[in-house]
Formats: sequence, structure tokens, C-alpha cells
Amino acid sequence: RFIVFEGGEGVGKSTQSRLLAEALRGRGLEVVTTREPGGTPGAEAIRALLLQTDGPGWGSRAEALLFAAARADHVETLIRPALARGAWVVCDRYLDSSRAYQGGGSGLRDADILTLHGIGSEGLLPDCTVLLTLDPEEAAARVARRDAGVLDRIGGRAADYHARVAAAFQRFAEAEPERFAMIAAQGAPEEVHARVMAAVDSLCA
Ligand code: C5P
Repeated sequence: RFIVFEGGEGVGKSTQSRLLAEALRGRGLEVVTTREPGGTPGAEAIRALLLQTDGPGWGSRAEALLFAAARADHVETLIRPALARGAWVVCDRYLDSSRAYQGGGSGLRDADILTLHGIGSEGLLPDCTVLLTLDPEEAAARVARRDAGVLDRIGGRAADYHARVAAAFQRFAEAEPERFAMIAAQGAPEEVHARVMAAVDSLCA
């Protein structure tokens, strides 16, 4: 099974990925945890290019191609082999982040992002996508505690960009309820984890 956490900055994706993986391991499953952009040496090298603060910066099309290239390496060398041997893969961000950021945020067409995903990763989709949602002010406060005030690691993006990203995530979840669980991310990590487990058990049984 392939499970992905999605959502904006500061909603708790990496904490919830870890808690889900621990719970699944407790059931005796082999679980691979990973993240995007990154997850393999090649994709982490591309992540460094994408997130560098003192570099040339990227136009939105070049950025979308770099995300797709990182994912191609990640899918080919880590995710598909893990799924093929029967492991569960829990990934922090995946295709729907590209659709929400490079699509909803930066204005690229959803169909073009899906085409890049088809070329790069042969269209591999998660079995279950957990969208964590949180009030933007609380998300910003969590990020400020974690990252010394750096709201967006790519940087330079205004609040309306993040509002478009959040709206896009919500549209995708509403359009594909069989693939998405929308989970409220407020409250203690263990409370959110209980909601995530219930959703995974019903979507990924
Ligand atoms: O999830 P994480 O904080 O590690 O993501 C790194 C940065 O990359 C974030 O600032 C996120 O906004 C950005 N990102 C993006 N487009 C994607 C995935 C991540 O702009 N497809």
C-alpha cells in the first residue's frame, strides 16, 4: 500500500507520517517512510537545487520539471521497489503537492502537471492520500516555532499563493473522495493520529 500525506506548511505532515509508520510497524508490516521533494540521493540533490536561497531561482515551468524529475527518481529507485516487495510506503508530499503548488499556486495547468507525472513516474498514484487541514494562522504559528519564522522554504511567496494552494488541495480532495481523506489537523499530535488511523483503516483496508 502507498499512503501519502498532503497539506500546506506547518500542518504536521512529517509528525503524522512518523506516527502512522510506527503504528503500522506495530502491526508487523514493513513500512518505508520517505518525503518529497527528496527521498533518494538523486531526488535530494534536486531538492537542494529547488530550495536553495542564494541560487538563481526558477521559473514555474522549470520548477515543475525539477519536481517531476525528483519524483521520477524517487518512484523508480525507492517507491516502486518497496511496493513490489510488499512493503507499505508512507510519503510526506507527492503528486498532489505539485498540482496544488505548481498548479493552484503558480498557475500551471493541472493537465500538464499530470502529463509530466505520466512521463516521469508512469502515473503512479497513492492508494490513499491524507490531506491535513489547519487554520492558516495556526499553521504559520507552528512553522514559526519550528523554522525560526521561515514560513516557506522556497520563499518569496505571498499569503495569497498559500491560500490558492489550500483551495486547490481542497478541490482535489472533494473531486476524488475514494482516494482522499480530509483530516482536521488541530489538536495534539496523538489526537490527529487517531483520526488518521481511522481514515487509513477505512480507505486502505
Ligand atoms: O514539505 P517541505 O516543507 O519539506 O517542502 C519543502 C518546500 O517545497 C515547501 O516550502 C513547499 O512549499 C515547497 N513545495 C513546492 N511544491 C511542491 C512540493 C513542495 O513548492 N510540489
